[in-house]
Amino acid sequence: MTADLTPAQGATTEHGHHVPHPVNNADKIRWWPAQREQRERELRWTCSCRSVVYVLVAGGGGAWIRRFHSSETTETVRMHPDAAVALWAKILAGEAV
Ligand SMILES: [Zn+2]
Repeated sequence: MTADLTPAQGATTEHGHHVPHPVNNADKIRWWPAQREQRERELRWTCSCRSVVYVLVAGGGGAWIRRFHSSETTETVRMHPDAAVALWAKILAGEAV
């Protein structure tokens, strides 16, 4: 199965997902300094009313998660889109942080 990486309809005006507090044994993601790509697309994002905002980004045949926390912007490593979508689901479930 191929990951669905189509941008969410009306996503620019949509209230984003609220990430729950992580579970006790949540996976610890390695966050690296962000490196923006020339051709990247932000596909999904969590609600900006929270202090930490996550964005699912695709570009160059891969995908990754970007994390905004106050003035700090970090990212996961680039990965296969299927892996990025799976990680995105874990973040939204509070199972990865
Ligand atoms: Zn909100």
